[in-house]
Amino acid sequence: MKTFQSLSEIQAEIKAGKLTVSQLVDYHLTQIKNNNGRLNAFLSVYSDEAQQQAEIIDQKLKNNSAGKLAGMIVGIKDVYAYKDHPLQCASQILNGFESQYTATCIQRLLDEDAIIIGHQNCDEFAMGSSNENSAFGPAKNPIDETRVPGGSSGGSAAAVAADMCQGSIGSDTGGSVRQPAAFCGVVGLKPTYSRISRYGLAAYASSFDTVGIISKSVEDAALILEVMSGADEFDSTVSQQVVPDFANFKTERKYKIAYLSETLDHEGLNSEIKASILELVETLRTSEHQVEEAHFSMLDYILPTYYVLTAAEASSNLSRYDGARYGKRAKSENLEEMYKLSRSEGFGEEVKRRIMTGTFALSASYYDAYYTKAQKVRRLIQKETNQLLDEYDFVLSPTTPTTAFKLGELKDDPLEMYLEDLFTVQANVAGIPAISIPFGVDNQGLPIGVQLMTKCFNEKNLLDISNQIITFKDQNR
Ligand code: GLN
Repeated sequence: MKTFQSLSEIQAEIKAGKLTVSQLVDYHLTQIKNNNGRLNAFLSVYSDEAQQQAEIIDQKLKNNSAGKLAGMIVGIKDVYAYKDHPLQCASQILNGFESQYTATCIQRLLDEDAIIIGHQNCDEFAMGSSNENSAFGPAKNPIDETRVPGGSSGGSAAAVAADMCQGSIGSDTGGSVRQPAAFCGVVGLKPTYSRISRYGLAAYASSFDTVGIISKSVEDAALILEVMSGADEFDSTVSQQVVPDFANFKTERKYKIAYLSETLDHEGLNSEIKASILELVETLRTSEHQVEEAHFSMLDYILPTYYVLTAAEASSNLSRYDGARYGKRAKSENLEEMYKLSRSEGFGEEVKRRIMTGTFALSASYYDAYYTKAQKVRRLIQKETNQLLDEYDFVLSPTTPTTAFKLGELKDDPLEMYLEDLFTVQANVAGIPAISIPFGVDNQGLPIGVQLMTKCFNEKNLLDISNQIITFKDQNR
């Protein structure tokens, strides 16, 4: 079967009588069967259900009663609750756990006739940048299997790149949708914090966690965003704003765009990625966008702020996994020992590191020195970011400092691993939308991603410029 870049292509074939949803599901199941052994992108595959669902949707299409997402086959990261299906956050501590309800964002996809084909591999509790922190072993990059797919939504990006599904729902707390999308050559969208309900998303750092989308096209990201967004009685932090018709994003406007010298001159930035950004700046100028160099003085403070605050929030959120309530329970006659053993055996090394550093930052003697200070710096970063976005429609930067690195290369060096998030965490610290778009490859054929950030609730224009950029690349080929 040919590969489809977007749902509109799929729906056109279905309409022309050349394709059925059942055939499409069978195709993706075959892709999973042939590739998952080596890529380890899916942890569970719901074959029978997906096939049954496909027959029902094919019938609905005949009756003209199918939803907007008929023909969209989606995989979901192992952090989303899907009723009566396993949910483990790629952790031993949730061994054998099954969800008792469905996350709002997933329910909204189902209501529009998307099909959920399985749960996807990720870093344990979404903590990581390479998918190597999964209790189920790493997912691999389909472009080069000796390399990581990025993380934490690594399985989700690998699955889309290897055509095991048409789109994936990942989560983005500090870049976990955009960084793997960049490494695997697909689109990764992190909407405004509060745009999509987090009900049913296992919490990592609640003031940063965002539902994110991985897709092959900007068009599909827009459509999925439109379906998932909007107020939800189960999550009071979701914005009450009316959801725009994101799917209708193509206005082809000319914009004012900034690129930051601090990111392009950063010593950790790979020179080919820098060259790609400069090439894009030129192309944008040729297409009559106004592109200017600008400054952001706080780049060096973003990562430390992010890691103090997210570890603090994680240490509190993950206290619920005590061995008594969910999943794994260690054997012991003594209650306190049972808690301790369950947590020591159930959590992996990186999760333990975050819980310990977070607990330290929140402890009475260090609270002000770390937690309060980081909150103040967060406010300053938000302020400077918003000032920049008052002047410019978008800020352009690389998504990542490097292309996909080798499996094992950074695994034992947590600080180097954290540096991978250098350019992505700003959007989460500030709560603004950001996207990663594939833009060329390096000399080893590894994908390069470019990132655009914009002000809160400006996703529609973000989608418009992203689509223009993807089209430049197609024209240059
Ligand atoms: N790599 C970052 C972290 O480990 C981002 C994770 C994420 O966005 N879920 O915290």
